[in-house]
Amino acid sequence: MMHDFAVYAVTPENSRGRRVQEDPPAGRSEFQRDRDRIIHSTAFRRLEYKTQVFVNHEGDLFRTRLTHSLEVAQIGRSVARNLHLNEDLVEAIALAHDLGHTPFGHAGQDALNECMKDHGGFEHNLQSLRVVDVLEERYGLFNGLNLCFETREGILKHCSMKNAKRLGDVGERFIANQRPSLEAQLANLADEIAYNNHDVDDGLRSGLIDQEQLEGVGIFSRHLSMVRKRYPDIAGRRLVHETVRRMINTLVADLTQQSMDSISDARLDSLNGVRSSPALIGFSETIRQEQQELKKFLREHLYRHYQVSRMSNKARHTVEMLFNAFSSDTRLLPPADQSRFQKEGHQAIADYIAGMTDRYAIREYRRLFAIEES
Ligand code: MG
Repeated sequence: MMHDFAVYAVTPENSRGRRVQEDPPAGRSEFQRDRDRIIHSTAFRRLEYKTQVFVNHEGDLFRTRLTHSLEVAQIGRSVARNLHLNEDLVEAIALAHDLGHTPFGHAGQDALNECMKDHGGFEHNLQSLRVVDVLEERYGLFNGLNLCFETREGILKHCSMKNAKRLGDVGERFIANQRPSLEAQLANLADEIAYNNHDVDDGLRSGLIDQEQLEGVGIFSRHLSMVRKRYPDIAGRRLVHETVRRMINTLVADLTQQSMDSISDARLDSLNGVRSSPALIGFSETIRQEQQELKKFLREHLYRHYQVSRMSNKARHTVEMLFNAFSSDTRLLPPADQSRFQKEGHQAIADYIAGMTDRYAIREYRRLFAIEES
């Protein structure tokens, strides 16, 4: 196998390994094996039917958590290749980063967190780790996917101090105030590039925001005028795509260059140097500010659009009703989850609800509350 890793990259050789020791894989690296396990997991297939911003049944062309995760992986891999980081690790983190998301996107997560407030709360990041560490049941030797430390650390983007203390190895860096690998830092920013851009695209497609509004946003208008100059007659979806692809390109190029400069200024000679340095993967100041402006626009005009809010309200209601029903009478849970409730308490209910796809949650709601359903 050909490797061209930088000295500060995570490699199969400097990895802290798996929790349960296994024979080394043949014909693929440890991190390729992690990626493959994630793709074959049940939680990964569920991403297809989980909301990113638009609920799954609202339209066939909007991003779902699955296509979002694929875009994050694509962007992350491009940058990783240019920085000589571990592309397989970035890909594995990107594909797994949203596995713990509830149905109905952030509205679902907020509702479940509120329901769980007397039982330790609910946090999708931590839940993604729980999926790969505990909840997947596929292997004879262990629960979860038994992923490498660096993949698990990348999935746990942030967590509370209380949880950090409880988590062991992957919690240590929060206590010691250290940074994760550059691959983990990169997957995080690839996530940001992906959602800012696809939310512009999906927002325009849905008609909830329009092009004139976006022309007041620096990064959009700058790229839009480049496209108009190059193709004076272009319009409609093609104009949007030409603009968005240029925005992604600008962000990827800026992230690559800025990170390369920060890495070289830090004079890293090993992976350990990464952990004690400040975050080294990042945008230039100008681009960072432009991204803030775009995020603010999306928050005000898309995520808080009244049509999105009405859907979020239904989502919240659905999650709350399910949670309340299960916690007031655990016999309403499927038998396997009832026995898990005996051991794990309300966490078992949170696991069951978080694992639901949008449409499963809607169906379960009907089965529990619509008198004519069974
Ligand atoms: Mg994401």
